[in-house]
Amino acid sequence: MNNIVLIGPPGSGKGTQAALLQQHYNIEHISSGDVLRKEVAAGTDFGKEIKQHMDKGEIGPVELITNVILEYIKPLAEKGFILDGFPRTMYQARMLQDAVPVTAAFYIAVSEDEIIKRITGRRSCKKCGAIYHITFNPPKEVDICDCGDNLIVRSDDTVETAKTRIKVFQNETVPVLDYFRKTNIFHTIDGEQNKQNIFEAIKKHLVL
Ligand code: AMP
Repeated sequence: MNNIVLIGPPGSGKGTQAALLQQHYNIEHISSGDVLRKEVAAGTDFGKEIKQHMDKGEIGPVELITNVILEYIKPLAEKGFILDGFPRTMYQARMLQDAVPVTAAFYIAVSEDEIIKRITGRRSCKKCGAIYHITFNPPKEVDICDCGDNLIVRSDDTVETAKTRIKVFQNETVPVLDYFRKTNIFHTIDGEQNKQNIFEAIKKHLVL
């Protein structure tokens, strides 16, 4: 069983790797950012509350978000899951460890310069979830997903918001890395290789 946690700064490629892992191992991928963006799109009260935090690159109401995400994860613990974007704070890390067994935690390491380049060129598909970069991984047709839908720029993918998100990562999430680093399930992966090499490096630490 693989209960996988992917940790990395914004734009480190967590979503891309999660999609590759999901396909390869046939286990579910939960992206906390995608869960929250769906709430925002649905216009729920919860969605309205978190939108203002997301647009600024802040973390928002941590306990509420934790409860929502844990409800998605708990039923998957027997079959396996890939978690991307969660846990982001020490509170979330402890709550996760109490709720389900985590079998592997990966830190996808990428430098700050590279993050800014990646985030500002990122394009996403709302329909199928595919992620592109206008230069490094362009779609076949400009601004159109290979599935045919229009690509969008996430409202928090601006230089200014990216800088806040990097700061939040350093202040809130680096302690989570240090927490997992003390366990034997922690692995650091060089996130500046091409996506296939990153995938191979991750797979080496997982059960078949
Ligand atoms: P992401 O798609 O992982 O880059 O997340 C986008 C935004 O969603 C973040 O900047 C936060 O505002 C919010 N978010 C995502 N995951 C979490 C989480 N685990 N805890 C709190 N906020 C989160």
